[in-house]
Formats: sequence, structure tokens, C-alpha cells
Amino acid sequence: MIQALKDMAQQDDQEVLYKRVRISVDNIYRNEIFSINLSRYLMSLYGIQQAKANPITGRILVVFNESVIHEYTIKEEIFHFTNSPSATPKTTHKPGGKTPYHVLSPEHMMKTLKTDFEKGLSKQTAQKRLQQLGANVLSESRRKSLFSNLLEGLNDICVKVLLGSSVVSLFLGQVIEAIALGSIVFFQVALGAIQKSKSETSLNALQNMLIQKAKVIRDGKNLEIDSKQLVPGDIILLESGDKVPADARIISCEDLKVNESSLTGESIGVSKSAKMCPLHAEMSNRHNMLYMGTNVLAGIGKAVVVSTGKNTEIGKIATLLEEIAEETTPLENKAEGFISTLIKIYIATFSVIGSIALLAGMSFAQVLMMGVTFFLGAIPEGLPITVTTCMVLSVRRMAKKNAVVRHLKAVENLGAVDVVCCDKTGTLTLNEMTVRKIYTDGCFYNVSGVGYSPLGEITPSEGESMKKHALEELLKAGVLCNNASLVQVENKWEVQGDPTEGALIAAAGKINLDTNALKTTYICLKEVPFDSQRRYMLSILETKEKETYAYCKGALDTVLEKCSYIYENGKERLLTNADRKKIQFHCNTMAEEALRTLAFSYKKLQHQQEDIEKGFVFLGFVGMEDPPREGVKESIKKCLKAGIKVVMITGDHMKTASAIGRQLGLLTEGLVVCGSDLDKMNDKELDNIISKIQVFARTTPEQKYRIVKALKRQGHIVAMTGDGVNDAPAIKEAHIGIAMGLKGSDVARDAACITLVDDDFSTIVAAIEEGRGVVKNIKSTMKYLFAGAIGEMLAILLSFISGSPVPFLAIQMIWINLVSETLLGSTLAVEPPSEEVMLESANNKPPVLIDRPLKNSIIRRGLAIGISTFALFKGSLLLGASLAKAQTLAFTNFICCQIVNLYDSRSNKSGHTNLYMHIMTGLSAVLLIGILYLPSLNALFGTVPLDPLSLLGLAGGVFISRG
Ligand code: ADP
Ligand code: MG
Repeated sequence: MIQALKDMAQQDDQEVLYKRVRISVDNIYRNEIFSINLSRYLMSLYGIQQAKANPITGRILVVFNESVIHEYTIKEEIFHFTNSPSATPKTTHKPGGKTPYHVLSPEHMMKTLKTDFEKGLSKQTAQKRLQQLGANVLSESRRKSLFSNLLEGLNDICVKVLLGSSVVSLFLGQVIEAIALGSIVFFQVALGAIQKSKSETSLNALQNMLIQKAKVIRDGKNLEIDSKQLVPGDIILLESGDKVPADARIISCEDLKVNESSLTGESIGVSKSAKMCPLHAEMSNRHNMLYMGTNVLAGIGKAVVVSTGKNTEIGKIATLLEEIAEETTPLENKAEGFISTLIKIYIATFSVIGSIALLAGMSFAQVLMMGVTFFLGAIPEGLPITVTTCMVLSVRRMAKKNAVVRHLKAVENLGAVDVVCCDKTGTLTLNEMTVRKIYTDGCFYNVSGVGYSPLGEITPSEGESMKKHALEELLKAGVLCNNASLVQVENKWEVQGDPTEGALIAAAGKINLDTNALKTTYICLKEVPFDSQRRYMLSILETKEKETYAYCKGALDTVLEKCSYIYENGKERLLTNADRKKIQFHCNTMAEEALRTLAFSYKKLQHQQEDIEKGFVFLGFVGMEDPPREGVKESIKKCLKAGIKVVMITGDHMKTASAIGRQLGLLTEGLVVCGSDLDKMNDKELDNIISKIQVFARTTPEQKYRIVKALKRQGHIVAMTGDGVNDAPAIKEAHIGIAMGLKGSDVARDAACITLVDDDFSTIVAAIEEGRGVVKNIKSTMKYLFAGAIGEMLAILLSFISGSPVPFLAIQMIWINLVSETLLGSTLAVEPPSEEVMLESANNKPPVLIDRPLKNSIIRRGLAIGISTFALFKGSLLLGASLAKAQTLAFTNFICCQIVNLYDSRSNKSGHTNLYMHIMTGLSAVLLIGILYLPSLNALFGTVPLDPLSLLGLAGGVFISRG
């Protein structure tokens, strides 16, 4: 580095032109010593060739290299020195120091970073730098170790209660119980930790599915690479919607605007330029720098990467990153909340019962032991982890169906969605454009051919004759105002760039227009890119003869607005109101055939600065076919059945949008409203009709935001799709923001909680189905676990009240906990959603975990299990059975009841068979038989083999337990 700067300094002396300024400084006047010192001081600065103070005039002459030091910086330094003459310079000294990138000239940057602004780095250099400097990531994904998950598990309230019980047992000399309780805690915590690590792994894997791409120039070629592989010196290209992938210095840019709120907190976009910056400019004022993690709002730019990964400005704010808290979802919180309330209730109940028992003469030790069993039985420890498992599994299933979820908490809201607002192009339709009709010079043409292939014919409609010149002019405009290109991949033509523009090139090919020749004869001087707010694109081009033309294409209304002339019979003439009406009429008929319309115009410019808002010559318009995606119609039907409304929001023509909406079954009796109507309504008027609107046409992204707001005010749970930067506010505002993986921008993806890998509408519906399924699974798990816990507690409580010994031995309770709660309970989490979930109408409320019907069924089932268990226990005792036998009966009954309860709790009764559940119940049944009939296990579990009569009684008990 130092050597590089020294070399540079030498080179500078040979080739650089210096600038001279004279600056007045009060202190110089008649002050020889100060003058000399100031001169010396300035001379020591990098980039200053000469500094001569004149005590007679009170001015100092500075000769400096403008590309190294800014005049402003020199003035700052003078001010600095005047105030404290003994200070060291704020700017860098001559060779050796490191000059900040924002004050380096582009040439210096190139040398310092050893790169080439045109060709970029070579592959080898990039590879080497990557090895030296490491990947461009802020921090290696900070995964928790299994150990820290274990520790975290110990922090759980259930675990604490169990551990407490274990200590108490040990204290009371019940060593076996203590060990057993200890091991149960161990199992619970270990299982939880393993489960958690597993879900973290799979969530991390999901994040990796959303790789951030960066456009770079390497070896002179434009490439897209994973932004992790960027190194200093890489030349990157940015456009609106991109996320800046590393800290970079701008080389050139046009209308570049960046949102730096992630760094500065300031949410207003900052304009950027390639110009030099003063040295002491604050980070937020360094207009020639781009920072990692900020978003490009508008314009285009080319920049050179100066630092990556942890060396970037955002990388330095390390604390910020550490603070990204691990999120727990509302459902998880709710489940945990339930348990802690439950424990409080238990403690209260037990203190009452315990006091009574003490008064009745039981020993303290006995009461404590009773407490241990009571808590062990009554707490559904398995719940929180099952909730998480349910979510993670469903997120994984969603990923398989191409919906990548960024926040777990989105999953539960998904199930409650009752309005889906959806883009048309690309989501409902394929975004594979083919020009089908053309209108120009009063004449209609039909276009044949498939896809983007230039094979096909353009023929005048019936009874009309070909007006070749007009047709050529129109298609020429289409080709010149165009950034796409077509490539042939294995006999198939594919677009690179915007499909709308690709279709125009294909159409031009059909009249043998030489598109390549056109693009070389016309040199592009300036371009106003298409954007869904403006709805047009404009190119200003220069011919070899130095004539300048503007070509414009876009939505008919916006194009027509700029036109004052019309092209007719090879000549331009004034455009009349009658013409406008006629054109509008023809365009409407085309749009009614579900064709997407696009109009064209041109203008010869006398000078480059001429007004490009008016004076254009209207050429005509085309109609493009964009077929609906396969399966969308069915998905919409599914939504309607599920009580979910689908609203189409598009920038397209009202007629086109309605025609497609009808084709898809999305538009029925509802309203079609266009953006300008929307603007005329106030919020109240909008609220009144919003529920009736099915299609929004000619809308801008801003209006999308308004639509979401209005729907939310009406109490809907809204999902909203989007792809561009401008869509981000609407995506953020919606309950479920959905971004497009294929054509979406980084900004939209950041704002969204779900990304559709395939941009397909049907994927949204699949995700909603999963969301509904997960809530069902959690509910059925709750039903199963709570009913079991209530039953267990009730049996213990009843025996105690009736003055009998405890119905289960500690070891038996532990078995119940492990097998029936943890193992069998988890089988409910893996149920895939059934078809049925989409038959219930949306309840547009975030899910309530335990609603009234669920509560009733839990209580009923819990009571039944508890009573049947107690009845068998007490009954057999009364009939003279031994305590061991009575306990065996109670234990066996409880496990069998839980197996039945498990199958009854299933949400997905008619759907797939849950193989995992069958295997687990089979396994636990076999183990139970072992416990009952193997002498060695008999000894361990304190059980006795059951005779046929007892088994009959058992069958009765299980039957009663169904409530
Ligand atoms: P959507 O994505 O909802 O279909 P867009 O905002 O992409 O809507 O397009 C709206 C209108 O803008 C289209 O009907 C078309 O007339 C025009 N348009 C679309 N793409 C381009 C483009 N690349 N250049 C110029 N105009 C375009
Ligand atoms: Mg679009």
C-alpha cells in the first residue's frame, strides 16, 4: 500500500496538472513566522505541490492536485491550523498515510485498488483477493452450539419445576425417583436442544436459498455472482431496486438515488454523483460513496468496491448485528404463556391441597412427594418444542413448494389471510409476451408465430392492404427503444431482459428488420428507463449523420399525451381530437381481447435539450398476448372456496386487466377500478367500496399502499405481492408481504416476509394452505397434551381426595411423560395439511390457540381420561386387588387412553395416513406389552401382568375415556 502510494506520487509529478488558488488568511498579514509555518504545514499535505504565504498581501498561494485534495479541504486545513498551530494535520501526510476513498481521484482509485474500470478484475486476481480477505459477509452465520441450546433449555420453567422436584426427592431419600426425575429432565432438554439445532439448520438453509446477487465486470465481461464473492477492486453495476453489495466508490452514475436508512437512519433518498468529496465530509455527505446494505432507489451506477465484509461501514457497526434478537413467534409465546399460567394455577391448587393434607396429619415428606408427582403429571412439557417443530416443518414444506419464509411468525398469519392482492404480469400470467396484433396508419395487422422466435408473418387484417412503411417505422421504434435481446438456446429463443421488449424484437424479425444493424446505426445518448409509475420508456438516439431522434413507447394514454402529430401515408400531420378518439377506441377493442397494449411515437430533435414532453409523432400500437399461468385458475377457485378473496392489481389497461380477470375466474360480479378513479376517492369513499373491488387497473405502486391500508381498515388480513422498489412500502404494510424471487428486486425481498421462488400465484395459495395446516397441527397437539395433563392430574387428585395412595409410581409417570407426551405428541406435528383446511372459510383473525370449542373438548376429554383412570384404580382396590395391580391398571389405562386421544386429536383425519404416527404408537404398544408381561420390566416398572378380566375392565376404561 505504502509503496503503491509512493509510486503514485512520483507519477503524479510527471503527468498531473495542478490547480492554483489564492486564499486570504487574516493571520498571515504581517506575520512572517505564521506564514512560514502555515506554508510548511500545507506543504506536508498529500496532493499539495506548493504553498507560499505572503505576509504583505495576507494571502496564500496554493498549488495542488485537484484530483487528490479538494479546495474545500485545503481551506479546512488552514482553519484548523489557524486555531491550533501546533496540531498535526487532519488530512493525510504525504506518502505513507491512507487517504480515504472519497477524496481519491478515479485514476488513483484504479491504481490503489489495482483494477481496471472498463475490464474489471481478472478471475485469478479476484480469486486471490478472496482468499486473502475472506468472503464478503458481515459475520459467519452465528449458529448457536448444541451446548448453548442445552443451557437455554434448562432455563425453561417446566424444567425448573422438574429439577426442583428431583432435588426434593433426593432430599427425602427417594434416590430412584430423584435419578428418574433427573434423567427425564436430561431427556427433555436434550431432545429440545437437538430439535432446536435441527430447526436452526433448516432455517439457515432456507436463508441460503435467497442468495444476493451482484452484477460485476470481470475480465471485461458482465457477470452475475453471489455477492459473497466480491472483493475490493471489483467493478459493480447497480440499478434501481438493487441492494448495494459492498462499500464502493462511484465511477459513473445517472440519476442515482440511494436510501441509506440502514446506516444513517435517514429514510429520505440521497442523490449520488461521481464528483469528488471534501475530506471531512461526514459519511452521510459522501455523495460519491455507496455503502453495503443500503438500497438503490432510482437510476443506474457503476462503482468500484473499496471494502468488503467486516471492513465495510456496516460491518464496523458490529454491535448492531449482535442485537438482531432471536425471534420467537406469537404462537410460541402464547404456548409458553399458557404453560406458565397453568403452573401458577397448579401451585395455587397444590398449596391448598398440601395444607389440607398437612392438617390431616400427613408428613411433610409425603406431601412434598405428592407434589412432585402432581407437577410431573400436570405439566405438558412437550408443548413449546412441538409448536416450534410444527412451524419449522411447515416452513420446510413451503420451501419445497417454492415459498421461502423469512420470518417464522409469518406462518401463523398466513393461515388467517382473507385477501390476496396480486400482481398480474408474471404472477397470474406467464410474462411470456408475443405480439399478436398491430395497429398503425389506420390499419390492423395480425401476427403469427410462437414465443420469441422471429419466425412468423405479419399480415393485414381482412380487406386491408399492407402499409409497409408505417409498419416498419413502428417496429423500428420498438427495437430502438429497447434494452432486451434475444438469444437462441438449443433451438429455442429466449429473452434477456424485459419480455415485453423481447416480444418487440421478435415481431421486428418477422418483417426482416435488421435489428442489429439498427442498433449500430443509432447511438443511444440518453434513456429514460421504463418504470411502473411513469409507464413509458424514452430513448434519445443519434444517427451517423448527427441527427437526433427521441423514441417513446409505453401505455397508450401516456404516449398519446406527448403526441401532437400522427404518422399517416408516409407523412406527419396534426393529430386531431377525432384521431385520439379513434385510436382510443381501437386500443380498447384490442385490450378487450386480453391483449396487453403498448403504443409508440417518435420525434426528431433539433437540439438535445429540447422538450421531450410534447411534440411527438404517433405511430400506432401493438397488442401482446401473455397467457395465464397453468394452475392459476384452479388456485383461484380454491381461494374462493376457502373464503379468500383474490384482487388483481396491475399497471395494465383496464380492459386487458378485466379480460384476463374474467378468463381466470377472478373477476365475477365485482368492480374494476382504475388508478385515476382511486385518486379521486377519499379514504371514506374507498373504504365503502373496497370490499367490492376485484380488479385495480392502471395503478401505481403508491396506490397499492393505499389499497392495503384501506383493506386493513376493513378488518382484512392482507397478503400483497410486489416486485419493484416502489412496491416495498405496500409489501411492508401488508400482514403478509410477498416478493418475487425471479423478477423481484432486493429491496422488495427485504421488505417481504415470503419470497416466491417461481413468482407463481399458486405458490401463494399453497403457502396459505400450509399456514392453515400449521395452526391446525398446533391446536391438535394442544388438545392432545392438555387433555392428557388434565387427566393425569385429575386421577392423582381424586385418589388423594379419596384417601388412596398415588395411582402411578414415579417411574411410571416418567414413562408416561417420555413416551406419551414427548414421543407420541410429536407425531401430531408432522401432519401435512389436509385438503379440508381450504374448505373452511377464512376467519380473518390471527389464530386464537385455544378457542371455546377446543377448550370444551380438552376439558371433556381430560375429565374422561382422569375419571376412567381413577375408576379403574379405585375400583380394583375396592375389589381387593393389590396396589401394584391397581397401579398397573391405572398406568396401562392412561397410556391406552392417550393413544386413542392421539388419533382423535388428529386434524387431518381424511388425508394422508400418518405413517410416523402409526409406527410410534405401534412401538409404544409393544413396549407397553413388554412392561406388562416381561418379568424383568415388571420389576423395573413395578407392574404386574394383567389377567383377561382386568384387560376387559381396561377396555371399558378406554371406552369411557372417549367422553
Ligand atoms: P403490470 O406489471 O401490472 O402488468 P406494468 O407496470 O408492467 O404493469 O405495465 C403497465 C403498462 O406499461 C403496460 O400496459 C404497458 O403499456 C406499459 N409497459 C410495460 N412494459 C413496458 C416497457 N418495457 N416499456 C414501455 N412501456 C411498458
Ligand atoms: Mg410489470
